[in-house]
Amino acid sequence: MEYFDIVIIGGGPIGIACGLEAKKKGLSYLILEKGPIVNSLFNYPVNMQFFSSSEKLEIDDIPFISKEAKPRRSEALEYYRRIATSNKLNIKLFEKVNSVSKLNEEFTVVSEKNTYKSKNIIIATGFYDIPNTLNIPGEDLPKVSHYYNDPHYFAGQKLAVIGASNSSVDAALESYRKGAEVTLIIRGDEIGQRVKYWVRPDIINRIKEGSIKVYYNTTVTEINKETITICTKNGLETLPNDFVLALTGYKPNFTFLEQVGVSLSNDEKKIPTYNDQTMETNVKGVYLAGVICGGLETHKWFIENSRVHAKMIVANILDN
Ligand SMILES: Cc1cc2nc3c(=O)[nH]c(=O)nc-3n(C[C@H](O)[C@H](O)[C@H](O)COP(=O)(O)OP(=O)(O)OC[C@H]3O[C@@H](n4cnc5c(N)ncnc54)[C@H](O)[C@@H]3O)c2cc1C
Repeated sequence: MEYFDIVIIGGGPIGIACGLEAKKKGLSYLILEKGPIVNSLFNYPVNMQFFSSSEKLEIDDIPFISKEAKPRRSEALEYYRRIATSNKLNIKLFEKVNSVSKLNEEFTVVSEKNTYKSKNIIIATGFYDIPNTLNIPGEDLPKVSHYYNDPHYFAGQKLAVIGASNSSVDAALESYRKGAEVTLIIRGDEIGQRVKYWVRPDIINRIKEGSIKVYYNTTVTEINKETITICTKNGLETLPNDFVLALTGYKPNFTFLEQVGVSLSNDEKKIPTYNDQTMETNVKGVYLAGVICGGLETHKWFIENSRVHAKMIVANILDN
């Protein structure tokens, strides 16, 4: 059975940064990724533009050259893929980790294909795999999705976009510009304050001029094949509808964290327990890296401020 100093679970930007750092410091390591390289970024909207400029997304000072100051999804895929391939990182793709157990000072990692032994574990599994659900009738209809991909798909269709965040605003604007009849449904009384500053005026003006319809202080109560029912402050309304994008945010895989033994704050934020100097959790030898550290506060960590985790963790492992 293969034995490593570190098994890294998750081949996103931060998992790759951890692999690169481990390699540089001469540690034996393996990255296990359940999808393609940087799977979350692969599942981002096709036209997505990062809010960070490319140098803020760099790992290990490897230059990230992009056409515009803020790179597109396709450029980020290329950048992180090239880092993994040109550094010949030890990464296994399409291999999901199902469980991690510890006996004495050794971990056993069981994936869907193999079993590995390791002295340390880095969990860098992000938060993009599990959407926050609405738990309403019709949410499982094929016309409903929690992931937005390509605006062309909604051309000429009645599209309801649920949410007030960057993802919902991007989906609403892009789909409207591809000829969709867009209705935004927002629980609060305004477009999110965290919406990219250069995008927010655009959506507000499209709403003002009536190009995009909006319902504030409104929730969705039911989705049917050809309609959507909403609860507004004036009561229930049923609207004709073809597609629904429920962009209501995502959450880390807490079940997996708890299976490994990582404890979570017992408040609504469910922050995992870790030492913010070393990123080591309450389980000795298990570390957290990347956006998973925020629990349900998914806006707190991103590539910009979590890429440093790689160096912190490997330095601590070398000290131990
Ligand atoms: C629309 C959008 C725009 C963003 N824009 C920016 C920005 O401009 N700047 C910025 O800094 N950040 C931005 N972020 C945040 C940032 O991109 C991500 O959160 C980033 O992907 C974090 O990297 P990560 O490696 O921690 O997690 P992820 O990229 O999510 O990687 C986790 C990886 O773990 C894998 N995985 C999960 N479970 C398992 C398992 N059991 N076994 C094996 N593999 C597993 C997943 O497939 C995934 O590839 C944005 C996020 C979104 C959603």
